[in-house]
Amino acid sequence: MLSGKKYLQILKDRFFQLFILLLSVQRAMKKFLILLIGIILLGFYTGADAMENLNDRQRDIVFISAYTAVGNTEKLKNALEKALDDGLSVNEIKEILVQLYAYCGFPRSLNAINTFMQTVDERKVSSVGNEPESLPHGTDKKEYGNEVQIKLTGAEVKGAMFDFAPAIDTFLKEHLFADIFSRGVLTYQEREIATIAALSSIKGVEPQLNAHIQIGKNTGLKDEQTEEILKLTSSVNKGGEFGLGEENTAYSKYFIGNSYLNPLTQDGVSIANVTFEPGCRNNWHIHHKGGQILLVTEGRGYYQEWGKPAQELKAGDVVNIPPEVKHWHGAAKDSWFSHIAIAVPAENASNEWLEEVSDEEYNKLK
Ligand code: MN
Repeated sequence: MLSGKKYLQILKDRFFQLFILLLSVQRAMKKFLILLIGIILLGFYTGADAMENLNDRQRDIVFISAYTAVGNTEKLKNALEKALDDGLSVNEIKEILVQLYAYCGFPRSLNAINTFMQTVDERKVSSVGNEPESLPHGTDKKEYGNEVQIKLTGAEVKGAMFDFAPAIDTFLKEHLFADIFSRGVLTYQEREIATIAALSSIKGVEPQLNAHIQIGKNTGLKDEQTEEILKLTSSVNKGGEFGLGEENTAYSKYFIGNSYLNPLTQDGVSIANVTFEPGCRNNWHIHHKGGQILLVTEGRGYYQEWGKPAQELKAGDVVNIPPEVKHWHGAAKDSWFSHIAIAVPAENASNEWLEEVSDEEYNKLK
């Protein structure tokens, strides 16, 4: 028989052992939990990253489509080279260019295909990837196309315009959504990425762009991805006839926001095309001796002289800035803006850069 005292001692020891065991279990659990939380967080992080950003392949589709849409064959060629480097197949790229005729016309599409043909030729690409498919003979294309259209847009597409010109409805359904969309090679989502990129690079197609942003969403494109497409294409067709040039890093300290500079000539008279992204403006400044002439070529912006109200500028406007007048120029909040800047030649001409145009002043402008 155990004495009461001894029994108590054993009980105490057992409790102590149990306590130590629980403590070590707790420590192990703690380690395990930290590891588990770490794994979950890492999963969230990489998962979110994969979900929210475009991948290389998608970005390649964006640039190919944007440069095709605006007919910039030089930049298109670079985009095509990069896409091939990234592993897009010849048939996948062909498919983007073929589809784009529906959104930016045969001429742009044909020119792009021609550029691509030369690129493939130069690189002696031998593997072309999966071949496109065609609908089985006898398919009711109007019905097939209608179903695809409903699947993409989320509802039957009707309206007065289609009653007014039924042929366009037939072509959209039988040709675009049946003939073209059934070809495979690209997913519907990839086709929408191409369309959004092309439409966001062309002027005056905002209703169609907005419709395709929604369709893109219906194909699983995340808002962040759509925003990225719009950001990537935002500078593609800017700068107008005289070109965007390069980012204006040399003068960036005198600007709020990003601007681009395309020097046109330096002989005798210095002339450059300057492009401001929305909200971008230069600091107050003075052109000593020579003055400056601005020829507005694209978008909406402002010119303001010190002590006077700002004047709104649009393509075709001319501003003759006398020497010694303190002023600024730049884009409206919601518009890209380009002007040609001519430095009026004068002996000992110089520029004096002054204070920023504050948000308070700028935000008053409509
Ligand atoms: Mn100026």
